[in-house]
Amino acid sequence: MDASAPAGTGVEFADKVKGQASLRTTGDFIVARGSMRTVVVAQCSRCLVKHQVPIEFDFCEDCSLAQIDEPISYSAELNDESVPIPILDHQMVDLSELVRQLLIVHLPSHTLCKPDCKGLCSHCGTDLNEGACECEVDEIDPRLAPLRKLLK
Ligand SMILES: [Zn+2]
Ligand SMILES: [Zn+2]
Repeated sequence: MDASAPAGTGVEFADKVKGQASLRTTGDFIVARGSMRTVVVAQCSRCLVKHQVPIEFDFCEDCSLAQIDEPISYSAELNDESVPIPILDHQMVDLSELVRQLLIVHLPSHTLCKPDCKGLCSHCGTDLNEGACECEVDEIDPRLAPLRKLLK
């Protein structure tokens, strides 16, 4: 595999999807086994800055010789492990649906742009990596909050 990521994953990619897959028939199913890697453009969970996160994983999935654009197979629940992934586009094997589902499962859910990211101020939204904001004082000692109101 060496192709652009399929549409419908909900995220951006900074690289192509690369890897290998071998298909083996077991009678009822086609088993796709291999590994793939790519680079996801993720948002920092704290400051929302976009950064690149390489991902790499092995997989072993049941597939079926069903058409990938058939509504019945296409609406297969992602978390229902028993539904084989369709891999046929007319007479051709097309792994895009397999790749799409695998990427969604392996997307990083909680990433940071750097290990010590300070994040955004929950009050004013200032990026605290770029400097402190006025409201930081309140957060250090919440008991001062009523006083601040009196001063207004
Ligand atoms: Zn960050
Ligand atoms: Zn602030």
